Amino acid sequence: MNQLPLKTWVCNVCGFSSAGAEPPHGCPQCGTDRNHFEEIPPAGKRYLIIGAGIAGVSAADAIHQADPYGKVVLLSDETELPYFRMNLTRYLAGELDSSKLDLHSRAWYLENHIELHLNTKVVDIDARSQQVFSADGRSYAYDALIMTTGASPFVPPFPGVDLAGVQTLRTLRDANAILAVCARPVDVVCIGGGLLGLEVAGAISRRGAQVSVVESLPWLLPRQLDQAASRILQQKIESMGIKVFTGAKTKALLGEEHVESVQLEDGSFLPADLVIISAGVSANLELARKAGLAINRGILVDDMMRTSDPLIFAAGDDTEHQGRMYGLWIPAKSQGSIAGFSAAGKPAKFAGDPPSARLKVLGIDLFSIGQISPTENGDLLLVDESGGNYASFLFRKGVLIGSILLGDASLAAKVKNAVEAQEDFSAQLGQGISAAAFKEALKA
Ligand SMILES: Cc1cc2nc3c(=O)[nH]c(=O)nc-3n(C[C@H](O)[C@H](O)[C@H](O)COP(=O)(O)OP(=O)(O)OC[C@H]3O[C@@H](n4cnc5c(N)ncnc54)[C@H](O)[C@@H]3O)c2cc1C
Repeated sequence: MNQLPLKTWVCNVCGFSSAGAEPPHGCPQCGTDRNHFEEIPPAGKRYLIIGAGIAGVSAADAIHQADPYGKVVLLSDETELPYFRMNLTRYLAGELDSSKLDLHSRAWYLENHIELHLNTKVVDIDARSQQVFSADGRSYAYDALIMTTGASPFVPPFPGVDLAGVQTLRTLRDANAILAVCARPVDVVCIGGGLLGLEVAGAISRRGAQVSVVESLPWLLPRQLDQAASRILQQKIESMGIKVFTGAKTKALLGEEHVESVQLEDGSFLPADLVIISAGVSANLELARKAGLAINRGILVDDMMRTSDPLIFAAGDDTEHQGRMYGLWIPAKSQGSIAGFSAAGKPAKFAGDPPSARLKVLGIDLFSIGQISPTENGDLLLVDESGGNYASFLFRKGVLIGSILLGDASLAAKVKNAVEAQEDFSAQLGQGISAAAFKEALKA
């Protein structure tokens, strides 16, 4: 039998209160009829979220849906409304203006009863008394806490990294600082040839800067591309006037107070008015350590985004789930929602996500998903290099486990679905299908 939830009713004539699924028929104290009883919302659970990136905002949204009476407080150490961090390179390139970056309008937070505190840096957590403390001396109590503190750029300890003119890109503030320098013709060295480094290079090259990309590994996008695909990508990037140095190790950044050049280990020098380092990120774990949470490279969470403390959840770039740190937008968004639902007591699970990537800004169609090179006996790689484009499909026991689409990524959605659904293509592979024919089969 379905039991109706108990509610609290109060007589608006005499203040008498009673509990029940429905209001009482009449007030036993003043005798007035049931129409004078009003429902009192249950005392709201206090949810506190540290960090207002996509994971934090998604968590707040999920809590509001799952527990409309809950009190949601979202703390951000940034000064702007939460924004599309992944679109900062498009903003740098001039494809978007800053008004298009907001995740939601200010009114959205009010309408959804999400108390957003900007410019509020959390400096400590006392898990025993269920409180967090901000740098401006305030304290916030919680019944459930969600950590979405994200990640910070990793800066290798090159000599000279502290010189003026050495930058990373993580925040809108960083992007504006880069734009200010690129307002005049400048030489820029981008250290790191991963997705972010290449997008930054493309963006500021479009602003008129002379750009060199320095990648220490033998080829660009080593996590997303095999060597053959990377060679094609490099040619496309160089044809835009961007210089690319692969297998090039940075020795030092040189200058008096301001950076003037980058010295490579082979002894060569690249002139630099600005150096932008994109060498990966590391999770922001300082608060998690203070709260005594179990951590490895990230805050350890289970499928419901629960940490080692039953009242604390975590999601996004600060989180490690089943040994994996994603550092990507979509997983941060879904983990955030799941953390919010879990904190509000609504069952939800994160099943993992095959990491996939697309390149923005450069105008080069590129999609990469899952594993890109064979590692086990029996892995089968199909490659098609026609028309200056590149497509590869990696199968294990007939199942598509990874793919690269470069130059024409129109099949990206179909490939993603097939990888996520672990579709079995044994029948087609058994007939010796070629990569080109496999593409046609996917299109059908
Ligand atoms: C330029 C750029 C381009 C990108 N492009 C892509 C892309 O194309 N595709 C993709 O999948 N991913 C991309 N990413 C990665 C993606 O943006 C991140 O994975 C995602 O933003 C992570 O979200 P998050 O909410 O976990 O963390 P974050 O976005 O880092 O948010 C964490 C927030 O918490 C705040 N915070 C930290 N500590 C505290 C504290 N103590 N007190 C208060 N607030 C605190 C931080 O300031 C920040 O605002 C890109 C990233 C960048 C920087």
